[in-house]
Amino acid sequence: MALLELQGVESGYGPMQILWGIDMEVSAGETVLLLGANSAGKTTLLRTLIGLLPCARGSIRFEGERIDALPPDQRIRRGIAFMSELGVFPSLSIDENIALGGYFLRDAEVRRRKTRLFDLFPALAAKRRDAAGTLSGGQRKMLGIAKVLVAEPKLLLMDEPSSGLAPVFVKQVIEVLKTTIGGGTSLLIAEQNVAFLALATRGYLIDHGKVRLSGTRAELESSDTVRETYFGL
Ligand code: ATP
Repeated sequence: MALLELQGVESGYGPMQILWGIDMEVSAGETVLLLGANSAGKTTLLRTLIGLLPCARGSIRFEGERIDALPPDQRIRRGIAFMSELGVFPSLSIDENIALGGYFLRDAEVRRRKTRLFDLFPALAAKRRDAAGTLSGGQRKMLGIAKVLVAEPKLLLMDEPSSGLAPVFVKQVIEVLKTTIGGGTSLLIAEQNVAFLALATRGYLIDHGKVRLSGTRAELESSDTVRETYFGL
C-alpha cells in the first residue's frame, strides 16, 4: 500500500482550474521529485495535499484513508508536513520557529528533538536566539528544514527548496537532505531544479497541471523531454 496515493486530483483557485486529474503515489521511505517549470502547478498540488486548497475532484489517500476532506491541522497530526518556499517566519527567533514546527507536541518533547536538530545544524544552534530574518538565504533554508523535521513527519512536502538560493547553497541543501532525511520520513519535493533528481528514487514531470511523464530516476535522467527541458541538452 502506498503511503500517499492521488487519483484524478483536480484543484485550482475558485473558477480557475489548475490541476487536471493528477495520479501519483509515494511509498513509505521513498523520495519522489515533482519536476515542473514555472506555473506548472507544483505549489498548487502541494497546497491541495496539505489542505490549504480544496480538492475539487478525485481522491487523496494517506496510509490508505481518504484525507481530502480533512482540514490542514488534521493532516499534520496524521504525519504530513509542508515546507513552503518561504519556510520560516523572519521576525521570530530560530528557537521559536523550530518550536512552531512542533506546536502539537509537549514542550519537553520539543526540547528533546531540538537538541538533536541542533546537533545536525550547528550553525543554527549558535544563533538560536536571533531572528530568522538575520540568517543568510542558505541558513534560512536549513532552518526551514529543521522546523519541519521537528515534527518527525511520515511525509514531508517541500516546495522549491532551491528557490532564491545561489548554486552553492542549492548543493548544500541537497547534501543536508541526504543526511537528515531517512528513517521514517518520505519526501515529495517540488522543484524546477533537476539537480534534486539526485535525491529521488522516482519522479513525475508535470506541465500545465497534468502529469506528462513519470518514472525512476534513471528513466527521467535519460528521457529526451527531461534532458532537453532541464539539462539543456
Ligand atoms: P512556480 O515555480 O512559479 O511556483 P508552480 O509549478 O509552483 O510554479 P503554481 O504556483 O502552482 O505553479 O501555479 C500554477 C498556476 O496557478 C499559475 O498559472 C499561477 O498563475 C496560478 N496561481 C497560483 N496562485 C494563484 C492564486 N492565488 N490565484 C489564482 N491563480 C493562481
